[in-house]
Amino acid sequence: MTATTRLLDLARKRLPPDALELIDRAAAAAASTGTSLYLVGGVVRDLLLGRPCLDIDLVLEGDAVSLAQDIGAGDSTRLLVHQAFGTATMRGEGFSLDLASARSETYARPGALPAVKPGAIEEDLFRRDFTMNAMAIGLTGKGRGKIVDPWGGQSDIENRLIRVLHDRSFVDDATRILRAVRYEQRLGFGLEASTASLLQRDIPMLNTITGDRIRHELDRIFREELPERALRRAGEVRVWSGLHPSLDRMDWIADAFRRAREAITPLPLPLCYALFLSHLDKEQASAVLTRLSAPSEITRVVLDTLAISASMGPLSTAGVKPSQIYLMLRGFSPQAVVASLATAGDWAAVRNLHLYLSKLRYVRPSLRGDDLVRMGAKPGPGLGELLSKLHRAKLDGEVRTKAGEAKLVRLMLSGRGIKRRRKAKRTTT
Ligand code: ATP
Repeated sequence: MTATTRLLDLARKRLPPDALELIDRAAAAAASTGTSLYLVGGVVRDLLLGRPCLDIDLVLEGDAVSLAQDIGAGDSTRLLVHQAFGTATMRGEGFSLDLASARSETYARPGALPAVKPGAIEEDLFRRDFTMNAMAIGLTGKGRGKIVDPWGGQSDIENRLIRVLHDRSFVDDATRILRAVRYEQRLGFGLEASTASLLQRDIPMLNTITGDRIRHELDRIFREELPERALRRAGEVRVWSGLHPSLDRMDWIADAFRRAREAITPLPLPLCYALFLSHLDKEQASAVLTRLSAPSEITRVVLDTLAISASMGPLSTAGVKPSQIYLMLRGFSPQAVVASLATAGDWAAVRNLHLYLSKLRYVRPSLRGDDLVRMGAKPGPGLGELLSKLHRAKLDGEVRTKAGEAKLVRLMLSGRGIKRRRKAKRTTT
């Protein structure tokens, strides 16, 4: 097999058949207008690494939106055109295929979004983050099956190295600092020596990046199979201090993520943020959340987690009643309870948090308000009080059955109930 057919053959073997059919249609349409189409970026990297790839990027040296509209999409594939960006996405069963026009980029100032204009494939590759992501495979004409690899991506992949394309890469776009660590840990690669020192030099450039963009890269880390690896590694090379001085090494993070995954998989993003910020105090965490322009759901789970930590004392007290555990935790997001469980050091607190998550939060009396009214309770605030006493009795196991609940309600209605609850407990039905 020649080098040219080898890459196309790899693509035939590794990409989903429906995606291949779309790629073939796009290549035929591009060839008929004499424009060049390429597979680019992560898909080329993953094909060379023998890793599965379901996010496929195509680049056309021409108008990508017109091409996408020409080929349309098949029965099970949806076509989404992003006119403003000049790109189109086709989503099929388990894969997504992006089609963009080749473009060149220039950065007016560090961290700014780049100015974009149409360009050739080499220019499109030059705007990319690392050599391993800056390769393309031709799909049309004379370039069909040939690899475009101007910066030695293949050799860096063979040597398992992450290398930037030029010395200003992290200055132009400091989100690449987080991307470098994420790829390094996902692929088991190393940072090439001069890339490692540029990364160290440019950590302060994270200041030039908006909160939203940093948060999107953090989200990508959290969506990795084992996010703790990149989080710990970034702490080791002091990346987090570029985000906020209170964030530092994360030697404890692997344990926290492992314990959280035992409770929920996949981990929801707000919970990941709660683990990430769990060692900060409220003021520090609020500063990081503001820096990241965090949406309210993330802010709530992070701050709830810190509030639960602040009440860890009562939660780990011997003999704390189930109803007290319930009352302490019911106002907090369940994700925050999981984050607290995953980071708690005290085994009694862990046991109580687990009891809340697995059982107490679901306990409800069988009798409802209208049942109590039928039994003679007056609608109004007193009814709510009766219901919550009944709920507490159920949580504490003082009543277990519907008949037991009815008995307690009758006692309470006769005015003797609460005083006589101990008796009710002794005679649990
Ligand atoms: P994965 O999805 O596996 O994380 P990917 O390569 O598909 O990897 P995306 O974040 O979807 O990653 O980006 C697609 C491509 O766009 C990358 O391969 C890379 O070439 C380029 N890219 C993305 N972000 C940047 C950036 N900040 N600077 C330069 N190039 C980037």
